Amino acid sequence: MTPRYLFALELDQLPSYEADFLVIGSGIAGLFTAYKAREFGSVLVLTKQRAEDSNTEMAQGGIAAAIDETDSPVLHLEDTLAAGAGLCDPRAVEILVTEGPVRVMELVELGVRFDREGDAWALGQEGAHRRRRILHASDATGEEIAQALIRECRREQNITLKEGCFLVDFIREPRTGRCGGALVLDAGTGGFTVCRAGVVVAATGGAGQLYLNTTNPAVATGDGMAAAYRAGAELMDMEFVQFHPTALALSGAPRFLISEAVRGEGAFLRNVKGERFMLRFHELAELAPRDIVSRAIVLEMEKTGADHVYLDITHLDRDRFRARFPNIWRTCQRYGLDPAQGYIPVAPAAHYIMGGIKTNTEGETNIPGLYACGEVACNGVHGANRLASNSLLEGLVFGARAAAAGIRYLEETGRRIPELPPYLAGKSKVDASLPEDSFWGRVADRVRTVMWEKAGIIRTGQGLVEAAAELEKLAEEIPSSAPLREAVEAVNLLTLGRLTVVAALLRTESRGGHFRKDFPARDDLFWLRHLVFQI
Ligand SMILES: Cc1cc2nc3c(=O)[nH]c(=O)nc-3n(C[C@H](O)[C@H](O)[C@H](O)COP(=O)(O)OP(=O)(O)OC[C@H]3O[C@@H](n4cnc5c(N)ncnc54)[C@H](O)[C@@H]3O)c2cc1C
Repeated sequence: MTPRYLFALELDQLPSYEADFLVIGSGIAGLFTAYKAREFGSVLVLTKQRAEDSNTEMAQGGIAAAIDETDSPVLHLEDTLAAGAGLCDPRAVEILVTEGPVRVMELVELGVRFDREGDAWALGQEGAHRRRRILHASDATGEEIAQALIRECRREQNITLKEGCFLVDFIREPRTGRCGGALVLDAGTGGFTVCRAGVVVAATGGAGQLYLNTTNPAVATGDGMAAAYRAGAELMDMEFVQFHPTALALSGAPRFLISEAVRGEGAFLRNVKGERFMLRFHELAELAPRDIVSRAIVLEMEKTGADHVYLDITHLDRDRFRARFPNIWRTCQRYGLDPAQGYIPVAPAAHYIMGGIKTNTEGETNIPGLYACGEVACNGVHGANRLASNSLLEGLVFGARAAAAGIRYLEETGRRIPELPPYLAGKSKVDASLPEDSFWGRVADRVRTVMWEKAGIIRTGQGLVEAAAELEKLAEEIPSSAPLREAVEAVNLLTLGRLTVVAALLRTESRGGHFRKDFPARDDLFWLRHLVFQI
C-alpha cells in the first residue's frame, strides 16, 4: 500500500524556509512560473541537482509556435489534436496554440536567441506538423532557453534558487487539506528541511528513467508525480508514454537523441540491410507520428534480428547539416561516426510521459494550493501522444497560467501560509538501519528493466500481467524507504511503474503512445476516456 508520507518525522524540529511561492523544479516550467510569480511576492525555487540538470537543458529540436504568415494557431491546433488521437482537451490545446506565440516572444525579450534567416525566424519542421513552425537555436534550443531563464531567475531579487534540494513529499494542512509546503532532503546539510508556502508548484518534469533505455537525464525519476500521488492528487493518462524513434544506439554510449528535426531536414531510416522501410508503414514515411515510427523500427529490428536501424543523411548537404546540427555532428564524431559518409545507428528510447498530475487549464490540481505545470502535469494538451516540440511550449504557457492562478489564490487567501502538522506519520523511522545506496540502485534498475521488457513500445496483456506481478513482488520485498535520494527515487519509480502497468492493462485498445498487440485497434466506442488514479 502507498503510504501518505514516506518518513515519520517531527517537523517542528527541522530547519524551515518560507515563501509566497514554492516552485519545485528548474526546467522551463518551473523557471518561467517563478519568473512570472516574482511580480507578486517571494519565490523559492528548489531543484534536486544543479539548476541545469533538466530535460529542458537537453531539448534539441525547438519550440513550436504558429508565427509564420503561412501558418495559424488553427493549423497548429489541428495537428496537435490529430497527434493526440482523440484524447486531447480541445480547450487546453486552444490555449496552448493561441497563447504560445506571445510567450515565445517573451523568451526572445529575455534574451533567448532563436536562429534567423535574414529578417525572418529560421523555422524547422518535425513529424506530424504540416507547417514549418519550430523555432530553434541550432540543435541546442533547450540549453539556450534554460540558460536565459536561469540567468534571469538568479538576477531577480524576489527569486531564490536553491540547488541540491530534493522534494520528498508534499505536506498538507491538517484542518483544510490545503497543500502548504514540502519536505525536502537538502544535500547541503545532509538532512531534512521543511519549506512552507502559500502556493506550491510541482514542476519536476517527467519520468523517462522508468525505462531502461531513455533519452532523459538521470534526474527524470518522476518524483513530483509520485509525491503528489502520495499526497492524494489525481494522476491521469499514465499508460501513454512516448518513445523517441531515433536515439543513438552504440554500446557504451548514452542514448543521445538524434532529433526528429534531422528527419524533418530529409534524413531516411534504413534497416540493417540498407532498405528504406518507412514508406511501407505510413504515407508520411519518416515524418509519421513518433509512435508509428518507433513501432516500425521495432518490427524492422525484429525482422532483421538487429538491435538498431540506421539514420541516413549521406544524401543531404554536409555543410548545411553541420551548421544546423552542430551538437549532433560533434557527438557523432566523438563516437567515430561521420554522418556525411556513413549511417548513424539508432533505436527507440523512452522520451516523454504524456500522463501526470491531473490539472485544469489553470494548473490547479485537486489539492487546494498545489499546482502543477510542464511535463509533470497532465492538462490534456497532449492527449494520447505529444506533438513534437509542443512540450517546451506547454511549460511556458501553463507555467505562466499556474503563476497567474497562484497569484489570484494568494490574493483570495490573504497570502496566508498554511499551518503544517507538528509531525508526519510516515512509514520509515529515519534512524532505522537500512540497506546501503547500491541496493536502491538495483531496485531502480529492476523496475526499469521490467518496464522496458514488458510495458514498453509494444505491449501485450500477458506481458503486462507479468510486469504487474514482478513489480508487486518487488514492492513487498523492499524495506521502508531510507533518508537518501536514491531510496526515494527508487520508491517513486516503483510507484509510477505499477500505475503505468495497471493503466496499460486496463486500456484494452491501442492509441497514441499505448500499443497493445492483443488489442491493436483504436476503440473509440469504449475508450474515448481517461484513466485517473488516486489514493
Ligand atoms: C533529449 C531530449 C530532447 C528534447 N527535445 C525537445 C524539443 O526539441 N522540443 C520540445 O518541446 N521538447 C523536447 N523535449 C521534451 C522537453 O525537453 C521536456 O518535456 C520539457 O523540457 C519539460 O520541462 P519541465 O520544466 O516540465 O521539466 P524539466 O525540464 O525536466 O525540469 C524538471 C526539473 O525538476 C527537477 N526535479 C525533478 N525531481 C525533483 C525533486 N524530487 N526535487 C527537486 N527537483 C526535482 C529536475 O532536476 C529539473 O530541474 C526533449 C526532451 C529530451 C530528453
